[in-house]
Amino acid sequence: MSIKVGIPRGMFYFDYYFLWKNFFNNLGVDVITSPKTNKDILNKGVELCVDEACLPIKIYHGHVDYLKDKVDYIFIPKMTSIHKKEYCCPKHIGLPDMIKNNIRNLPPLIDTEINLKKSHKNIKSSVFHIGKHFKKNSKTIAEAFQKAYRQYQEYIEMTTSKIIPIDINTKYKELSYITNVKKENYGRRIMVLGHSYNIYDYYINMDLISKLNKRRFDVVTAEMVKENRSREYAARLPKRMFWTHGQRIVGSAFALIEEKSISGIVYVSAFGCGLDSVLIDLIERKAKENRIPFTLLTLDEQTGEAGINTRVEAFIDMLEWRNRDEIDLSTHG
Ligand code: SF4
Repeated sequence: MSIKVGIPRGMFYFDYYFLWKNFFNNLGVDVITSPKTNKDILNKGVELCVDEACLPIKIYHGHVDYLKDKVDYIFIPKMTSIHKKEYCCPKHIGLPDMIKNNIRNLPPLIDTEINLKKSHKNIKSSVFHIGKHFKKNSKTIAEAFQKAYRQYQEYIEMTTSKIIPIDINTKYKELSYITNVKKENYGRRIMVLGHSYNIYDYYINMDLISKLNKRRFDVVTAEMVKENRSREYAARLPKRMFWTHGQRIVGSAFALIEEKSISGIVYVSAFGCGLDSVLIDLIERKAKENRIPFTLLTLDEQTGEAGINTRVEAFIDMLEWRNRDEIDLSTHG
């Protein structure tokens, strides 16, 4: 029987699932994921986690709890830095410790630190540390990662070819199956911004992307803007941003605002997220200067779908009045 590694379907799942899944598979290890977020997973996460944590962290606890009796290891890397001279949110860094503290009877965690703050080359030692759980030979581990990384590059190419990342994750089992993937076709776009785990977890945001598609708007997200482009725009900020995810979100928003290729922006934020509060302020101001409508959806475990629907419908109605009547309704108060 082969070894099973669990990857919880939360937090970095939405960014790096393909990379790590393929790496483990290339080492001959099976990967098990938790199901899509549902009421039970949310409730369990809320029960296990401290009240002060943000919603995605609570939900992540629910995913880990689901997996704990079904796998030999759970993969929860300590994500300190994923880019030179930059950091992740402190809650990402503390995640493995938080999980160990809050959930009993866990299988062994693979909680290797990923820290590229000094050099991207540091990924090598993290990869060997992870791979050594399953293979002794360093060359085998290196080859498994190189192959996974090439597969991951194909995935990144897909996302920057106007395909919403989660569509690749959910609809297509293997990248090689992708042929006629649905591209934009409504001729008008809304940018949905926020952390990947807030905008691609359909349970957290109550299927926001489908709601916008049903009203005949295409959706574009930060991951669909090429990284070098979003970095170029983020570099124009008067002060350098040290959070990698913040750079991506703010830079991609500035790029599309300036090229005026979007009808509006919906920002999806977790209640109490300090990083989001900085980003929201910067993006809302930029949108206002360029007369791009902006709305904010703040989520916690009490958020009801009726409230989200009302906000989204009102926002879309306003965009349609604007387009139809060619008037410049202010959406910023
Ligand atoms: S960036 Fe915000 S939403 Fe994400 S883990 Fe940190 S506090 Fe939570």
